[in-house]
Amino acid sequence: MHITVCHCTWCQRRTGAAFGIEVVYKDEQIVFDGELSHYTHKSDESKRWLKVFFCPNCGTNLGFILEAATGIRTIAAGTFDDPSWINAKDYTFKHVYLKSKQTWSEIPDGVEKYQTHFRK
Ligand SMILES: [Zn+2]
Repeated sequence: MHITVCHCTWCQRRTGAAFGIEVVYKDEQIVFDGELSHYTHKSDESKRWLKVFFCPNCGTNLGFILEAATGIRTIAAGTFDDPSWINAKDYTFKHVYLKSKQTWSEIPDGVEKYQTHFRK
């Protein structure tokens, strides 16, 4: 559907980087083969839950589902075998939670920008 680049402080903590990059799908588009582990996070701001999935064998981040947006599932952009298909020419990049963006993180031109989230 689009790519969300989230600069919230929780994404900074969970990724250990300046932001999280999530490819957003309709939930029915994703099928996992095997058991997943998950962690349920409650947003400091909205108080809504978000379930982060990961591989129980190696800990790889396998994206999340959100209480705030039922019917969608994200996959972390860096976890595809070949993530080179993800590009700004073919997909809309939505940078969210810019209010907590790090000063050492630069936003490219031509992307959608939101101080909080495009979804209220
Ligand atoms: Zn975030």
